[in-house]
Amino acid sequence: MEIFVGENAGFCPGVKNAVDKAENVIKQNGKVYCLGELVHNKQVVDDLTKKGMITVNEIEEIPDGEKVIFRAHGEAKSVYERAKQKKLEIIDLTCGKVKSIHSKVEKEKENSFIIIIGKKNHPEVIGTKGFSGENSFIIETEDDILDSYIKFEKTALSNVFVVGQTTISSSLFDKITKKIEKEFIKADCFFDKTICNATEKRQAETKKLSKDFHKMIIIGGKKSSNTQELVKIAEQNCEKVYNIETADELKREDFLEVENICIMAGASTPQKSIEDVKRKLENI
Ligand code: SF4
Repeated sequence: MEIFVGENAGFCPGVKNAVDKAENVIKQNGKVYCLGELVHNKQVVDDLTKKGMITVNEIEEIPDGEKVIFRAHGEAKSVYERAKQKKLEIIDLTCGKVKSIHSKVEKEKENSFIIIIGKKNHPEVIGTKGFSGENSFIIETEDDILDSYIKFEKTALSNVFVVGQTTISSSLFDKITKKIEKEFIKADCFFDKTICNATEKRQAETKKLSKDFHKMIIIGGKKSSNTQELVKIAEQNCEKVYNIETADELKREDFLEVENICIMAGASTPQKSIEDVKRKLENI
């Protein structure tokens, strides 16, 4: 079987930085708290937990004065304030690209209604919303556009500033912004396509490869937003797409007659998971 691995498969720069720095902090201190899962990948989180990382869901669970990691997705402004009150030492691993969105919305919120296109429950979107002030709205699907307009109309603002979750698909951003332009007819709209280029490259490569291969394996978490985007993109062209988190999920019988296959992986999938899958396929 010929096995092709996508060039852009695996850790993006923001996740790599977060995992490397978290490992260093644990090495130096023996333990560190992490607010939320460091990355949406069980294997990576389990490995760091064994080494000394303590994952908590709420900041209140962390004893005062301890060290806490803010992960690559970023946190809302109120969480930074609460950490200060609790005298926590913040190890801020928010990706630079997410930080730049926080600065933009903070600057624009004085004069603009802020719209964030993305998943309402995604930590990155919740963090960005937390920097956007009261006059802001999250649009996840086209159905939310009307509600956002109703909220906008209740403000005295005439400008609208639109950003996107870094990992949404470029086509979704374009589709929703076109409709916003039509709906917000009385407003001056400014669209900042804040999709991360690491994400764009991975999505574009996945689209291309899904046309070249009949079968694709996408490695990445079921909760990983960027992985699920890759699955959706691949399914548009490829006959069969397997979304797995580890090599253990591969069933030998599915690949007996396969001549060639392509592997792609989400931004929080470590190199080791990719190699494990490749090795298992080679031995079929
Ligand atoms: S996907 Fe892009 S924005 Fe998100 S953590 Fe990775 S490098 Fe940063």
